[in-house]
Amino acid sequence: MPFTPLHMGPGLLIKSFLHGSFSLMVFGWAQIVMDIQPLFVMLSGEGHLHGFSHTFLGATLLGLFAALSGKYLAEFGLLLLEISNKENPVKILWWVTCLSAFIGTYSHVLLDAIMHGDVELFYPVNTARPLLGLLSTGDLHKFCIYSGLAGTGIYYFVLYKLNNVSQQ
Ligand SMILES: [Zn+2]
Repeated sequence: MPFTPLHMGPGLLIKSFLHGSFSLMVFGWAQIVMDIQPLFVMLSGEGHLHGFSHTFLGATLLGLFAALSGKYLAEFGLLLLEISNKENPVKILWWVTCLSAFIGTYSHVLLDAIMHGDVELFYPVNTARPLLGLLSTGDLHKFCIYSGLAGTGIYYFVLYKLNNVSQQ
């Protein structure tokens, strides 16, 4: 994906189903972690654009890193956004952190593997590219944007319904 924020679309859709069992912040952090290597290659002009970070093995290692660092970053982010407060801080459970980070890194490589010819998911086992061209770039972008819109709609709809139920 040329533009990391597009990965947030599917994340919003997953959030709308999992609510408190999924951290959108940790997921978002995982997207940034995944694209540090391509960003570095773009800036320096050296190395493989997607390379090792965009393989299942790379996504596993970066998922672990995103989970370990993301829990504290996300809790701090919730404080900054005033969703959480110092007297009663929101703690993100470890399993929620890990789930969000790994959904983040694996969904990232799967989406990138559809679009980019240099993403070799199974490296170093083989260099197969089974997902390449599954969707056109335009359709892939539409998928990301529409899943984000649908996710936002469903999220607030479920929240509204839950509020109504708890008030009855
Ligand atoms: Zn990427």
